[in-house]
Amino acid sequence: MKRSLKTQMSLTILTIVLATIALVSVLSNYFINKQFTDYITHQQVLKKQIIVSSISKQYSPTTKQWNMDYIHAVGMNSLYEGYIVKVYDKKDEMLWDAQSHDMNLCNQIMGDISNRMKIQYPQINGEFQAENYPMLLEGKAIGTISISYFGPFFLNDNEFEFLHSLNKILFGIGLFSLLLSAFVGHLLARRISHPILKTVEVTKQIADGNYGVRLQEESNTTEITLLMESINHLAKSLQTLDKLRKQLTEDVAHELRTPITILQSHLEAMTEGVWEASPERLESCYDEALRIGKLVGDLEKLAKIESENLKLNKKEIILNEIIERTISNFQTELQSKKIEVEVTGPLVSLLADQDRIRQVIVNLISNAIKYSGDESKISVELFETRETAGFIVKDNGIGIDKEELPYIFERFYRADKSRNRSTGGSGIGLTIAKSIIEAHGGKVIAESEQNRGSKFTITLPK
Ligand code: ADP
Repeated sequence: MKRSLKTQMSLTILTIVLATIALVSVLSNYFINKQFTDYITHQQVLKKQIIVSSISKQYSPTTKQWNMDYIHAVGMNSLYEGYIVKVYDKKDEMLWDAQSHDMNLCNQIMGDISNRMKIQYPQINGEFQAENYPMLLEGKAIGTISISYFGPFFLNDNEFEFLHSLNKILFGIGLFSLLLSAFVGHLLARRISHPILKTVEVTKQIADGNYGVRLQEESNTTEITLLMESINHLAKSLQTLDKLRKQLTEDVAHELRTPITILQSHLEAMTEGVWEASPERLESCYDEALRIGKLVGDLEKLAKIESENLKLNKKEIILNEIIERTISNFQTELQSKKIEVEVTGPLVSLLADQDRIRQVIVNLISNAIKYSGDESKISVELFETRETAGFIVKDNGIGIDKEELPYIFERFYRADKSRNRSTGGSGIGLTIAKSIIEAHGGKVIAESEQNRGSKFTITLPK
């Protein structure tokens, strides 16, 4: 059977508290009872000693007389406390006897005590028993006292009352702790289950595509806070991906729309005879077809690189040679823009896929040229550490906006779209570069400042 976290926690806390209360009740009842009966038994021994000693003192050796009034008072007092006293002189003649003094009162008191004790303490099998005590004066016997009482012990009214109150207090404490723990348990369970329920609700919304939701709840529980932070992080990542996906579709559509519209309208005009199919017009149509072809080709290249990245054809390569050769392939563009390129750094050789690494260099250098003004400078700096090697491509061109920098490696992402249309970029070059470098176990870091220039650092493991 499935129960909610709240119910389960409340039930667990309640069960633990109930078990604790039961255990404490049984133990405290047992020990209090034992201590109390020990105390009562001890008190009763003392009481009997007091009766014997106070009656013994009522004999006057000079007159050889007993103070009968006092004996009567002590006897009656003892009777009310549950002790039936008989006093004999040294000739064994009866001096005072509670029973013969007031038979009814004695029977009533004895009946009360034995009824109550047989109900409350049936296990002790108690009954009235008589004990004889000698009375001595300066070591000489002056008589005997017989005391009968309910043994092995009995409780008088006050003592019963005391035990009863004690039980009531213990019961009250038990009930109070039970209610308090039920209340606290409920609160605690709610405090834990509430943020979890909220998290579930938000997760459902994220699953339904509402990536903008965030968990605003606060929790004192570390694990729950971590869970909520991860959910928020997940929502943010999904939101970014969603944004990029939409951007991708938008860009592909946009990229295709312009050349297709131009093609369509030109071809329509020519087939309808509005335009003559001159070689210039056919060439412009061909250019547009080429543009579409290039875009599709870029997409294919990326798909191929991403799917084939697992099979790298690695061998020892000299990075400096590849860089120099690539730069020389850009001579025409460099000369027409009067851009100077400077290559510095040590000779670096490492294990890598030559064709792929060349592709990375081509993409970075062509970007640096594309986004630099006339008569500017591009530098390529090689570096090497014990475990890594790589190069930095730096330009002092137009740079990239801070807000756009995190996205430039996403496919089709082009910073500042309007300016890019004129440069003819499709936003795939850096995606390909990053994909190749990561397949080699390396990383690409882009740093840039708008209107100042950009710096791309490629680090590869050796
Ligand atoms: P594109 O084909 O558009 O150049 P890339 O993936 O190579 O595509 O680059 C993505 C975007 O990053 C570019 O559109 C451009 O805005 C920006 N970018 C890349 N390199 C540079 C650079 N060296 N200077 C300025 N902006 C750059």
